[in-house]
Amino acid sequence: MRFLISAGPTREFLDPVRYLSNPSSGRMGIALAKAARRLGHEVVLVHGPCSVPVPQGKGLQSIGVTTCLEMRKAILKAAARADIIVMAAAVTDFRAKNPRPHKVKKSEPDACVLRLVRNPDILAELGSRKRRGQILIGFSAETKELRRHALEKLRKKNLDCIVANKVGGSKSAFESPDNEVLVLRRNQKPLSFSRMDKSGLALRLTRLFLKLPPR
Ligand code: C5P
Repeated sequence: MRFLISAGPTREFLDPVRYLSNPSSGRMGIALAKAARRLGHEVVLVHGPCSVPVPQGKGLQSIGVTTCLEMRKAILKAAARADIIVMAAAVTDFRAKNPRPHKVKKSEPDACVLRLVRNPDILAELGSRKRRGQILIGFSAETKELRRHALEKLRKKNLDCIVANKVGGSKSAFESPDNEVLVLRRNQKPLSFSRMDKSGLALRLTRLFLKLPPR
């Protein structure tokens, strides 16, 4: 199978030295890429700036990007050939409306005013143009009402499966070597995976993804 996996955060620059982002390390997406490769599949990994080493090698092509728009371009290009797409990246939802060409000075009158625009939702776009038989998996990072929000995304973004995890607080999935998740699939019972190392979890999730019925 040909996997397309995204990992890590995106950065949205406000000026050349400041950006909007989130604390995603890229660990989960990278662990998924390694797991798919270990199981003998071909992987394209599109990743934002990760705080852990990014693998590269035979059968695993890594493409580094910085912004959501760059990630979108790389993902949409690779999606045409992919059998299974896993969007594990923590894409930044907003970007500066007018990124400034020079460092904003603290003394400028509008220094504290930030105008943002919405970034495109890459996963929703993939869902709307999903090929017959292509498997599409999303992640859902929430601080509360995990199940409700994840279910809503599964339907709205036309996914086959969604992996929901908590972020924020002491048990946050962000920057952590381990994770606990709730997995929702179409017309199947929800599955809970208790807290474990992200590489062990990635192997289990990948095996589960491979068993999802094509639509
Ligand atoms: O709607 P929400 O951002 O919570 O959905 C999370 C899922 O959507 C993740 O799989 C993430 O990779 C993907 N996403 C995306 N493009 C965005 C925001 C999120 O592909 N702009």
